[in-house]
Amino acid sequence: MRRPGRHFLQIPGPSHVPDRILRAMDYPTMDHRGPDFSELGQRVLRGMQGIFKCSGPVVIYPASGTGAWEAALANTLAEGDRAAIVETGHFASLWTQLAQRLGINAEIIPTDWRTGADPDVIEDYLRADTQRKIKALCVVHNETSTGSTSRIAEIREAMDAAGHSALLMVDTISGLASARYCQDEWRVDVGISGSQKGLMLPPGLSFNAISEKALEVSKRSGLRRSYWSWQEMLTPNETGYFPYTPATNLLYGLAEAIDMLHEEGLENVFARHQRHGEATRRAVAHWGFETQCQVEADYSPVLTAVRLPESVNADDFRAITLKYFDMSLGNGLGQIAGKVFRIGHLGDFNDLMLAGTLSGVEMGLSLAKISHQSGGVLAAMDYLTQTSTSVID
Ligand SMILES: *Cc1c(COP(=O)(O)O)cnc(C)c1O
Repeated sequence: MRRPGRHFLQIPGPSHVPDRILRAMDYPTMDHRGPDFSELGQRVLRGMQGIFKCSGPVVIYPASGTGAWEAALANTLAEGDRAAIVETGHFASLWTQLAQRLGINAEIIPTDWRTGADPDVIEDYLRADTQRKIKALCVVHNETSTGSTSRIAEIREAMDAAGHSALLMVDTISGLASARYCQDEWRVDVGISGSQKGLMLPPGLSFNAISEKALEVSKRSGLRRSYWSWQEMLTPNETGYFPYTPATNLLYGLAEAIDMLHEEGLENVFARHQRHGEATRRAVAHWGFETQCQVEADYSPVLTAVRLPESVNADDFRAITLKYFDMSLGNGLGQIAGKVFRIGHLGDFNDLMLAGTLSGVEMGLSLAKISHQSGGVLAAMDYLTQTSTSVID
């Protein structure tokens, strides 16, 4: 059956792809070894340094974010090396399993999945490693399964306070271009991202932003690698080329996305996401539900994970919003499957799209007969109204 109007893709990635990016990709694929490609290649490689806010190289893989996770580890850690991963949620847990499959001795710094990574816990953990055996600390910047962010600047300070020289690896797959991220300022050694979240592109590209220190480590360490090898990439990248066929049309889209982010202004992009996060949480509080993240300083501007009462299956609720309102909401993952649903408010998104999204949630709650206080959408609208002049004037 035809469903008129736009589908509301309100999962926290892939996010809605704006028409301008779709049009930018709608061109014949060019010869990736021809003379014209070099300009595009250099444009996106340099452009991504601006998005990561880094001076070191950014490598672009034709792969999902998972590929970039593997690349970060494979280029820097040898089999049996110790890595500590803060388990902020399902994505951190998947990254840990991936590391273990690669033969890395990955250990978990646990959390209750209701907070970002705690800098104090990290400091104690690293201090306890008196022999300095931990080679990498891995943190997820925006934990997409729980809607929590980790304060990377404070985590870097905690590493300094502990006097630990482990590499700092940060998964900002759903953080980049939505939540503030500053690779150089925070001295992140490997920043990892993907195309289908804040960057507003379809899935299919992923990134490693590499510090000088990580690059040095990669020259004398790492696992056996070829496809993921930074060195294989970096030499042709100098002139804007790739060692194998890049995802050319996605790169057209990436160039457009970078321009769009600068036209809006990165700080405005971050503020917009913060504001939509706050409006969403006001709706959730009014309905009478908890957010999965319980630490205010760690609330995600990218998505909000909402806990439903124990008696309710969140997946049944999501099926209703899809069936009646053509809106996809994110499911609960891992240990919170069925307990939460996730509202994505990231990427190419504005106030009325958020109002529509929250209306769909509130109508869905009524249809599903889930007990709640009606008027959450109004609470969000009040906040959006009060703060709208700060955005436009
Ligand atoms: C989406 C996501 C991933 C996984 O990326 P894929 O593109 O699905 O491989 C990893 N980490 C985080 C935080 C994510 O949001």
